Amino acid sequence: MEAKNISHNIRVRIAPSPTGLFHVGTARTALFNYLFAKKHGGVFIVRIEDTDTARSEKKYEEDILAGLTWLGLTWDEGPHKDGGYGPYHQSERIDLYKKHLDILFEKDLAYHCFCTKEELEAQKNYMMASGFPPKYSGRCAGLPRAETDQKKKEGMSSVIRFRTPARKLAFIDAVKGKIEVDTELIGDFTIAKSFDEPLYNFAAVVDDERMRISHVIRGEDHISNTPKQILLAEAFGFQSPVYGHLPLLLGQDKSKLSKRHGAKSILEYKEEGYLPEALINFLMFLGWNPGTERELYSLSELEQCFDLSQVQRSNAVFNMQKLDWFNTHYIRQKSDAELYALCLPYLERAGLADAHMSRERVMKIIAIEKDRLKKLSDIVVLAGFFFAVPAYAKEILVWKKSDAARAKESLSASVDEFEKLSDAEFAGEKIKEALGVVAAQFGNGETYWPLRVALSGLEASPGPVEIADVLGKEESLRRIREAIAMI
Ligand code: GLU
Repeated sequence: MEAKNISHNIRVRIAPSPTGLFHVGTARTALFNYLFAKKHGGVFIVRIEDTDTARSEKKYEEDILAGLTWLGLTWDEGPHKDGGYGPYHQSERIDLYKKHLDILFEKDLAYHCFCTKEELEAQKNYMMASGFPPKYSGRCAGLPRAETDQKKKEGMSSVIRFRTPARKLAFIDAVKGKIEVDTELIGDFTIAKSFDEPLYNFAAVVDDERMRISHVIRGEDHISNTPKQILLAEAFGFQSPVYGHLPLLLGQDKSKLSKRHGAKSILEYKEEGYLPEALINFLMFLGWNPGTERELYSLSELEQCFDLSQVQRSNAVFNMQKLDWFNTHYIRQKSDAELYALCLPYLERAGLADAHMSRERVMKIIAIEKDRLKKLSDIVVLAGFFFAVPAYAKEILVWKKSDAARAKESLSASVDEFEKLSDAEFAGEKIKEALGVVAAQFGNGETYWPLRVALSGLEASPGPVEIADVLGKEESLRRIREAIAMI
C-alpha cells in the first residue's frame, strides 16, 4: 500500500466511542491529532462512534466534548459543527453503512455466519489444538444462498463476515515504520451484527473514506485493526489513509495504565484543580520527544513545533509527579487576579470565602499560598485557617525551647503592641515593627512561634506578619486572646 502524500489536504479525526468518560488516553490521541492538523493547516474532526447502542450514552459524549473544550482542543468539524461531511455520529449514518454492506455482498466479499457462540468457541479450541491460529474456521463461508435464506427465514441469528483475502500485507506506519502482516492469520472477521448494526472496523473504514481522512493517528492498541481496515478499504477500492500509532500508555509499574496509577477522566483532573495548560504539556510528553531538554510548551507553541516523526516508538510512562510539577509551574504563572478567579469556586464550595471577606482580602490569601499550591483545590486545606482557626492542642503554642508561661507573656506583649496600632496602620511594615519590639524582649523564637500558632492554629503555616496583615487588627487580636485564654 502506498502512503498518501503529506501535501494532500490534511484531515484527521478522533473517533471516540461514548461508552465511558473522556480519559487520558483519548485526550492524548486528540491532542496529537489536533496538533498535526494545526501544524499542516488541516482539519481536526470529532466523530462519535456510537453504533454500540447498548453501551453508548449521551452523558459520555457530553463528557468527551466538554473535556476537549476545556483542554482547548476545539474541533473544526464534528458535533455542533458541521463541515459538510456529517453527520458526525455513526448512529446517524446507518443507511450509508447498509449501502456499503450491499456493495460487499454484491462483490461476494461478505457472507452471513450462523455459528453460535459455543460453536465458535469449540472451533477456536480445535484450531489452537491443531496448531492453527485461533481464527474463524470459515464454516459458513461456503453456504449456498438458498441455505442462507432458509436459515434467515427460520429466524436463526447471524452476523456478517468479511471474506478476508489471504496474502502478505505491508503498510508504512507514520510512527512505527514498516509493518508486515500475513492476513491469512486474521481469518474472516465480523463487520456487522446485521444490516442495521455495523461494527467498528467496517464503519470506521467507510467513514474515514467519506470524511476524506488523510491520516489516522490513534493508540497502538488499534494496530491489529489496521490490516483489517486496509483490506476493507481495498475491497471498496478506497485509498487508505496514512496510519500512525501512538505508543501505549503505561503506569509506573509498566503495566497497562489504569485508575490505580492515578489516571482519571479529564474532567476529574479539572475538578481537582489541574490547569489545562499543565495537562496539555503533560499529555504531550506521553509519547513525544522533541529531542531537546526543554520541557515547557504552551498549546500554541506545540502547534508550531509538533512533528509526527518525533513521536517515540517505545511505550510512554504515566507519572503523576510530573503532572504535579507542570501544574505547580502553571499555577505560578497566573496573576493574583486570575488565581483568585480559579480558586474562588473551591473556597466557596468548602463554605469558606463568604460575604464577610472582601475580594481583596481573599486575593491576598490566595497570593500568600500560591507557591504551595500543587493543584487549585489545595487552597481549601492550605488557606482554611484564614477563614476559621482549626481546633488545635494548646501544647503546640509553646515554642520547643520554652514553656507555657513564657508563651503567655510573649503573646500578651504582642497584644499590647498591636493595640498601639490604629486599624488603618495595622499592615505589613507596621506589624513587623510592632513585633520587632516584642522580639527584642523575648527573642525571635519565643515571639513568632506562639504568635504564628495563635493566628493559624497550625504547626506549619506562612509567617505571623503575613497572616496578621490579612486578618486585620480585630481578628488577629481575637485569635491571640483566645490562645492566651487556652494556655
Ligand atoms: N472508536 C474507536 C475507539 O474509541 C476509534 C479508534 C480509531 O481511532 O479508529 O477506540
